[in-house]
Amino acid sequence: MRDDTPNSWEARADAHSFYGFTDLPSVRDRGAVVLTHGQGPYVFDVHGRKYLDANSGLWNMVAGFDHPGLAEAAKAQYDRFPGYHAFFGRMSDQTVMLSEKLIEVSPFPRGKVFYTNSGSEANDTLVKMLWFLGGAEGKPERRKILTRKNGYHGVTAVSASMTGKPYNSVFGLPLDGFIHLTCPHYWREGQPGESEAAFTARMAQELEDTIAREGADTIAGLVAEPVMGAGGVIPPPEGYFQAIQPILRKHGIPLIADEVICGFGRCGEVWGSVAYDFVPDAIISSKNLTAGYFPMGAVILGPDLTDRLQAASDAIEEFPHGFTASGHPVGCAVALKAIDVILTEGLMENVRALTPKFEAGLNWLLENPNIGEARGKGLMGAVEAVRDKATKTPFESNLSVSERIANTCTDHGLICRPLGQAVVLCPAFIMTESQMDEMFEKLNTSLQKVFSEVA
Ligand SMILES: *Cc1c(COP(=O)(O)O)cnc(C)c1O
Repeated sequence: MRDDTPNSWEARADAHSFYGFTDLPSVRDRGAVVLTHGQGPYVFDVHGRKYLDANSGLWNMVAGFDHPGLAEAAKAQYDRFPGYHAFFGRMSDQTVMLSEKLIEVSPFPRGKVFYTNSGSEANDTLVKMLWFLGGAEGKPERRKILTRKNGYHGVTAVSASMTGKPYNSVFGLPLDGFIHLTCPHYWREGQPGESEAAFTARMAQELEDTIAREGADTIAGLVAEPVMGAGGVIPPPEGYFQAIQPILRKHGIPLIADEVICGFGRCGEVWGSVAYDFVPDAIISSKNLTAGYFPMGAVILGPDLTDRLQAASDAIEEFPHGFTASGHPVGCAVALKAIDVILTEGLMENVRALTPKFEAGLNWLLENPNIGEARGKGLMGAVEAVRDKATKTPFESNLSVSERIANTCTDHGLICRPLGQAVVLCPAFIMTESQMDEMFEKLNTSLQKVFSEVA
């Protein structure tokens, strides 16, 4: 519970810091958790309490909180060249090397990379690229962006418009021209008696109808997470990308994979698109890209978009876009190390090795009478609380069930995240089997306690 003595960390946090995406009544009641350091997948607060972070920070601290190689890579680069931009034909050697590496590990035979400071900015950048192409290619009306309800693409005005969450209405978003298709969540959106294959076909038909209604010439691209992350960990239904990609191709609409969460190992492959067996036209990366040790995002364009952006830029002698810290040398050095750590030091192998145990743990939680669905891919998963399992009826929202579960977990030394009526698990890739047991046992204890109070 909160320490209310004057000048406590909790009071100081309240006094001068805004909380983003935070259930304010909970914080008012319990106080902020103010953290000082981490060790492996654990974090420690100012009172010396230890928590297993089942969300690896915000999906991104996949190598844990004290990886020596990553800290050393940052320090070495700070010593060598602590900052530079990527404007006016200059960029750091680290930036050159990271782009080579990203194209090498991408599914593209060739391509180019543009750097940002975050995933949101990477999505903004991608949209500006597509708008720029429309103008340059004599199709200025080709500006609409398709995404899906519950898709999460960030918080800047454009990326929030892409995000398919109702909370953005408080900002008067989405902007015009951002169209949200049905969330392809079979368990929730499938109709009675509808098979998964029929559901996928219906999603594809909706896309076809939307393109016909809006006009193919007005659509600049479709952006999709391979597995929806912040929407509640929603894997695509069977054959989904195989059903939608040909429709997009037929109309010349690029498919962009927002791999900010799935990229670099979360689904057991370098990319979520590899896990689901499709090759997008561009990839958005962030989060795991630096294993969370530096803020950075990247737009990775495949051959076709690369050539077109190059031609459009050549025509006006520049691509008028960039951030002061795009391609920051320390960020690039950290990303190079992070990619190495994930792909060659065994982290992604550990994801694969732990996946069966993770799935078994999710299925064990599903035995709770008030867990309606357990879902996931690789080391990202969620369990969804329901009042009635047979009818999938959710708990009344004023019960704040998932907040209560997450708060009870915190009391038990486990950090996990409420999302709608679901609780999300996305542990660090360095997790051990016994840490995973600890995670599931603590979550199960918390679920049982909360369900005994509200069911
Ligand atoms: C987190 C996230 C973003 C936004 O990244 P920020 O760095 O928070 O701006 C975009 N897309 C997806 C899929 C994400 O999970």
